[in-house]
Amino acid sequence: MPIDKKDAINLLEEIALLLKLKGENPFKIRAYENGARILSTMDVDFSEFVLSGEIAKTKGFGKALVEKLTEFVKTGTLQYLENLQGEFPDSLFEIMKLRGVGPKKIKVFYDDLNIVTVDELENACLDGRIASLPGMGEKTAETILDSIKKSRQYESFFLYANARKTADEVVEYLNLLPCVQEIEIAGSLRRFKEVTKDIDIIIASDKPEDVMNHFVKYELIDTVVANGTTKSSVILSDGMQVDLRIVGRDIFPFALHHFTGSKDHNVAMRSRAISMGYKISEWGLFKLEEGKKDQLIPCQNETQFFRELELNYIPPELRENMGEIEYANQNENFDLVELTDYKGVLHCHSHGSDGRNSVEELIEYALGLGHQYLGITDHSKSSFQANGLSVDRILKQIDLVNKMKVKYCNQFTVYSGIECDILKDGSLDYEDPILEKLDFVIISVHSSFTLDKASMTSRIIKAIEHPSSRILAHLTGRLLLKRDGYEIDLNKVIDAAIQNNVAIELNCNPQRMDMDWRHWHRAIDRGVVCSLNPDAHYLNHFNFIDDGIKCCQKGWLSADNILNCWEAEKINRFFEK
Ligand SMILES: [Zn+2]
Ligand SMILES: [Zn+2]
Repeated sequence: MPIDKKDAINLLEEIALLLKLKGENPFKIRAYENGARILSTMDVDFSEFVLSGEIAKTKGFGKALVEKLTEFVKTGTLQYLENLQGEFPDSLFEIMKLRGVGPKKIKVFYDDLNIVTVDELENACLDGRIASLPGMGEKTAETILDSIKKSRQYESFFLYANARKTADEVVEYLNLLPCVQEIEIAGSLRRFKEVTKDIDIIIASDKPEDVMNHFVKYELIDTVVANGTTKSSVILSDGMQVDLRIVGRDIFPFALHHFTGSKDHNVAMRSRAISMGYKISEWGLFKLEEGKKDQLIPCQNETQFFRELELNYIPPELRENMGEIEYANQNENFDLVELTDYKGVLHCHSHGSDGRNSVEELIEYALGLGHQYLGITDHSKSSFQANGLSVDRILKQIDLVNKMKVKYCNQFTVYSGIECDILKDGSLDYEDPILEKLDFVIISVHSSFTLDKASMTSRIIKAIEHPSSRILAHLTGRLLLKRDGYEIDLNKVIDAAIQNNVAIELNCNPQRMDMDWRHWHRAIDRGVVCSLNPDAHYLNHFNFIDDGIKCCQKGWLSADNILNCWEAEKINRFFEK
């Protein structure tokens, strides 16, 4: 079996975890973590990358890493890791994944209470043994119980981007069959929910048995849960469940609408149908007439189905019963933003802080994408874990960006910006004269996440009110399926942003999608401006914009609402206030 990139990343991460448990030197540990992080963003044939010697020329891979990865590629194992593993039981790694349970605590649990599994840890929290450990208390036990509960919830969900990739592969496989007349992904994935539990696929075919036989032979299936002629469920090797339904061509639009949901949208649609003398279900749209058998109204597609109910087409991502039915009755279309409206990124990192590329590489890449401008926004000085810029270094970067402005002035606009930390008291991370030298300032919370709701709200509002602030980044700090965002009074923050002409970011890193789509519709009605950014640390992060646009659509945003869809002149005015 050739070793691929994912194996190597797992290997490096595992070494880093074990070294932490042993209490090894942090620099040594960081070398392994960095190696894993760099690898995760590289698009390489891993074995070739190592065996050709390319790895030794790549920044971030020192001698120790190169030697270990070479042994791993050549032999498929690594003696060093095996020795390390021998010192600990496997189940410790499950504990390690819990939030708020770092290597130091795990070491105490292990040494003092001999705890090696999540279940043992849960019991020790419940019976008071954790609370009685030195330096810990009731609060520690509660926090751990909470993260055990969360991790069990999170385990059954997948990020949109991952689920979508898997679903597309299954669709491609099923599409190999000529008897598949139509095929669509349905469910929450079609509606672009940020996380999803399973994949629903609907097929129109007159040979359902052939399709099912083909489906259950898919090579990535781990378990076939149910195998019928029109409905089957399987679990794939990555843990994702796929439900496949096969219907006749004439039923397809109805089944597709029904299984796309959401539940609330369907309930509202059903009551609309009834009020108009119809009935809808997964089996069709029927005209109800007294004394007669229900009459199926044939529909070619969903557009026609909506039309029969006097509605214009409702895009799947809007089907949440958040006003879309009334709107589609009154309006031709939803005027949603499109990918082609997007004109430039205003939040990205260069190797000035923790990005992977030079400013010029970022500009060239953005130019290649057809963008019109780019804002360079590295981290500010308090973000030392992200190599934030000292005053000296930010001044140098401003000079560098000014040179780039001249170099590219005929074809492209470059903005010098910063992702400035909001300090615990709401002040910003540089003195005003530094902030005033920049074209614009993004403000972000990167520390003190545990402030209570009122303090966090006033901290952020104070930062919004700073005259240099222009964009408030990743509003709640959430990491999907990893950590919940901190609590804030959303209405107050949105009002402050509007009053102070500060845009709110929709950070479209797939783990963030923050601010959440549920809040945008109302926020733009009140007049807030959105800034859609990939928060790119690597060139391939610019791809996040595609899903970011879908998230904007789900939030009912049009191009006018989004800073990054404006011409540079209009942005200049916004930055000048
Ligand atoms: Zn940030
Ligand atoms: Zn950032």
